[in-house]
Amino acid sequence: MPGRLLQNGHMPKLMTGIFALLLAFQLSSCRAPEEHRAEYFVFGTLVEVIVRESDEQDAARAFNDLQQRFQAMHRDWHAWEPGALTRINRAFSQGRPATVPAGIETLIRRSQELEILTGGRFNAALGAMIELWGFHRSEFPVHAPVPAAQAIQLLLDAAPSAADIVIDDGMVYSANPAVQLDFGAIAKGYAVDLALEILADHGIENALVNAGGDLKASGGSPERPWTVGIRGLAGSVIGGVEITATEAVFTSGVDQRFLEHNGERYPHILDPSTGLPVTGVASVTVIAREALLADVAATALIVAGRDSWVEVARALGLKDILLIDDRGEIYLTAAMNERLILAPGSKPELNIVN
Ligand code: ADP
Ligand code: MG
Repeated sequence: MPGRLLQNGHMPKLMTGIFALLLAFQLSSCRAPEEHRAEYFVFGTLVEVIVRESDEQDAARAFNDLQQRFQAMHRDWHAWEPGALTRINRAFSQGRPATVPAGIETLIRRSQELEILTGGRFNAALGAMIELWGFHRSEFPVHAPVPAAQAIQLLLDAAPSAADIVIDDGMVYSANPAVQLDFGAIAKGYAVDLALEILADHGIENALVNAGGDLKASGGSPERPWTVGIRGLAGSVIGGVEITATEAVFTSGVDQRFLEHNGERYPHILDPSTGLPVTGVASVTVIAREALLADVAATALIVAGRDSWVEVARALGLKDILLIDDRGEIYLTAAMNERLILAPGSKPELNIVN
């Protein structure tokens, strides 16, 4: 995969520049005395939290609180480890109502709304299809044959949708037994939004929450912004942006988690209209005020593909987007282009779209 980007002669220079920029950022933050950091392993990834302008005791209390809250989210929202969500999914498949914790209720409501806005490209009720492909696991790649066309068709015919779920007074019920919730494309975003809210409850308004490169920051200023990298293919960094308001930057890609069979790769993001893994797009980065929205949008725009991503982004009210297709071509909105900081002298080929 990196070879595709390196075909552009400016790339190595650009990457060196950006790495230098990120390193400088890290060094300066090490020196800043009023910064405090914590790390957590949740949602299958390392979550790093950095807070500024807070005293040590407030930060320690907030970090403890985060630890508990992250653990509860992980337990409640997991798609296959036994917990609140697997209990609700079992009730759905048996046609029974189930009690619903507040966090899951919010995730369902937002999933219903975003399924409509994305024209069904984001579908949180697709859990059975995702499991059929073998993606309910932590170890990748998956080595297994692709599912039988008949099994995929059966689930397509059952047409699970978040719209099938009725929420009433702390209870949920699905009119469609094929609905199985999988919050893989939305939970990390919601968790990051909540993490900043929890920090704010502790009086901390200047913070960065970084969940394995998907992140949200608040409290930056033009004088002291949060500088973050925009990811390219295969762990590369293609540029940086400065965050001076409350904003989230999320990237979805197909190069980390996939099923491999007979030399073909089938990524873990499925097109709900076909039940098949997406093709054509390698990664999408979205900047939005809300991490939940950025997370969902990054996934939905990969499904939308080269032909429809602009239209879906508009429906979601998003302006800052960067898409890399499977040949390594970079497309980005004019708004994203204005913010993207490339290393001096580097000129990757950028296709500006509007
Ligand atoms: P990552 O967590 O690797 O950044 P995403 O945010 O794109 O990836 O989420 C991908 C996960 O979302 C998949 O592992 C699966 O659980 C779920 N998923 C896959 N396709 C869809 C889809 N079309 N709509 C909703 N969720 C999906
Ligand atoms: Mg996502």
